[in-house]
Amino acid sequence: MRTGIRRAALAGVAALATISAGAAGALDIPATKAAIDQGLDRQYPHLDALYKDIHKHPELGFLEVRTAKTLAAEMRALGFEVTEGVGKTGLVAIYHNGPGPTVMVRTELDALPLPEKTGLPYASTATQLWKGVETPVAHACGHDIHMAVWVGTAKTLVDLKARWSGTLMFIAQPAEELASGAKAMVDDGLFTRFRKPDYGFALHVGTDPVGDVAYRSGVMSSNSDELDVLFTGRGGHGAKPHITIDPVMMAGRFIVDVQSVISREKDPSAFGVITIGSVQAGNAGNVIPDTALLRGTIRSFDPEVRTKLLDGISRTARAEAMMAGAPEPKVTFGAGGKAVVNDAALSDRSIGVLKAAFGAKAEAMEQPNFASEDYSEYIIAGVPSFFFRLGGIDPGVLAKAEAAHTSVPGNHSPYFAPVPEPAIRTGVEAMSLLVMSTLQPAASGQVGVVAAQRSGE
Ligand SMILES: [Zn+2]
Ligand SMILES: [Zn+2]
Repeated sequence: MRTGIRRAALAGVAALATISAGAAGALDIPATKAAIDQGLDRQYPHLDALYKDIHKHPELGFLEVRTAKTLAAEMRALGFEVTEGVGKTGLVAIYHNGPGPTVMVRTELDALPLPEKTGLPYASTATQLWKGVETPVAHACGHDIHMAVWVGTAKTLVDLKARWSGTLMFIAQPAEELASGAKAMVDDGLFTRFRKPDYGFALHVGTDPVGDVAYRSGVMSSNSDELDVLFTGRGGHGAKPHITIDPVMMAGRFIVDVQSVISREKDPSAFGVITIGSVQAGNAGNVIPDTALLRGTIRSFDPEVRTKLLDGISRTARAEAMMAGAPEPKVTFGAGGKAVVNDAALSDRSIGVLKAAFGAKAEAMEQPNFASEDYSEYIIAGVPSFFFRLGGIDPGVLAKAEAAHTSVPGNHSPYFAPVPEPAIRTGVEAMSLLVMSTLQPAASGQVGVVAAQRSGE
């Protein structure tokens, strides 16, 4: 399937590069990409060192003090006006370069509470106090790659400032993994104390081949809802179950029965997942506890599917309790992330840019990411955005895994090991071109329009 997409992409490439190069006022993509690459040859050793330093010193959500300081220093050195402490540990960096739109570029700052097992020479051995426990921390989602791309893009755009006009708004967001950092920045006046950008861009590194970019118009990532179900029974001796109401039994039934919401209530062709990832009940084998607490996550793309899943979960939990003669369970849905939905017009233009710049290495995603992303907060706040995916894995490693019918360790695995070069270079090329494509003084938007018409896709 991958091959099919590549061929389709390749067919449009030759035409696109010449069209965009010739269009009046549009960005000359081949010439600009060549200039970006020249700059990258000079700045790459610095980006590599920055990446490895951040990778070795990961920090958890809202604790990214060292990371934020490092990025603030980088951006000040480039001439950005930097404000720290936005949304607790976030930062906003602004760069004015003549009249034109304001374009936001976002990176995340945070890492994950897990031990790194990649064996890389720059692997993390860091720990942080997390929920009262000293916990291993690792950049297992690749946010360190995003930070290196973010700094590299800022440097590139400053170096090439004769080629665009407008304002850059680079933001570094805390606590993406807690699905609350974007909201913290918006609530702290990101779009009022500073300004509301005309366009927004972000990327995420994943398990596509390194050197590739993957794109999609419309829905890009899933809705995510957190779930707590507390069953209350009546505890007692494990040998006398008849005088108790067993919450472990209710929990066990619920875990199995709730999957029928997925298999029997939801349209099989629509995406939806319910996962119970945490079961907490009792301490001793011979004691029936009073309560059982289940924690889970719910994913969907479509708002109607989402509502159906939430309703089905509540109904199933109540039914289990009723069957056991127990009080109503407490079902709580926590604030998760909404789906990231790419803006149609900006996507058209951006996809045209990526195809012209990367040819067959720019691939259409067949379906959105199952994971979710709190970048959606900026979109909900009214910033038309384009969010795309960056390849991170050595194609040889991918081929080996494919031959063995296994998959490579992905984001959130302790073994996730994106290849920094060329992932960071590709990210800087793509992000710089996308930003510049929205900051062309005359006929801005022409690249995408022309590309979309001629490619016929
Ligand atoms: Zn993540
Ligand atoms: Zn992530």
